[in-house]
Amino acid sequence: VPELPEVETVCRGLAPVMVGETLVRVEQRRPDLRFPFPEGFVGRLEGRVVDRIVRRAKFVQVHLNDGQVLIMHLGMSGRFTIDTGDAETAPGRFVHDVGGIAAHDHVVFRMSSGACVTYNDPRRFGYMDLVPAGADLEANKHFAGLGVEPLGNAFNAEHLAWRARGKTQDLKAFLLDQRNVAGLGNIYVCEALFRSRLSPRRRAGTLARKSGRASPRAELLVREIKATLQDAIAAGGSSLRDYAHADGSLGYFQHTFRAYDREGGACSREGCGGTIKRIVQSARSTFYCGRCQR
Ligand SMILES: [Zn+2]
Repeated sequence: VPELPEVETVCRGLAPVMVGETLVRVEQRRPDLRFPFPEGFVGRLEGRVVDRIVRRAKFVQVHLNDGQVLIMHLGMSGRFTIDTGDAETAPGRFVHDVGGIAAHDHVVFRMSSGACVTYNDPRRFGYMDLVPAGADLEANKHFAGLGVEPLGNAFNAEHLAWRARGKTQDLKAFLLDQRNVAGLGNIYVCEALFRSRLSPRRRAGTLARKSGRASPRAELLVREIKATLQDAIAAGGSSLRDYAHADGSLGYFQHTFRAYDREGGACSREGCGGTIKRIVQSARSTFYCGRCQR
């Protein structure tokens, strides 16, 4: 499942081939993905120029020059393949040149530069929508209720403490709640809690002091959430260069995790000697070290 760093990597990978270019031709090969495509999808895209591409939580927002925003969510298995038309950097191009249609290639964007961006999604949990830009964008059904971006300045210890104050739910569930912070998934919550030495079972309310101000734990947690995501985005950036020379596909890369999916493994924190445990919280697996995470 693509998480925030993968989606960020997708945005950074799409920008060089789409921004400033016209969507010359759009091929929509099915009526729906997870949801139906919006009415007149192809006609509302063709001829428009891409102004910029930004990420919001786990959404890709493609801002067009006519005030529309193409919203794309990768669901469980969505990915993009870029064919720049340059055989040396995109060996996958022959797939399109011979007119073959891969069964799971659902949307193809042909850009004025000659580049071809293909959306492939075997499980079809992804979706696309077209919405107006501007003040209405954040109020849109896709974004309404979403909390602050974890990499933005608004995500800080005081914000976290304000959201957590008095809450008895566990820290894991608190961080997965998209109203508190947007775009954090199971993997990066586990990793950030490990790096912060905070137990996923700790009460969320302990991020705030009695006065309501942030506790030192909140400072630490915010710092480690940002660092965990930034490290993963950096890893994605390097994989982007690798992929550009492989098959041009974006959005998936090899991670190294310290806690996630390491049940039974020795804790990697120097001098700890503990073992990574797996528990189930809110029906999801949590991985953590019972010795150094408190
Ligand atoms: Zn440990």
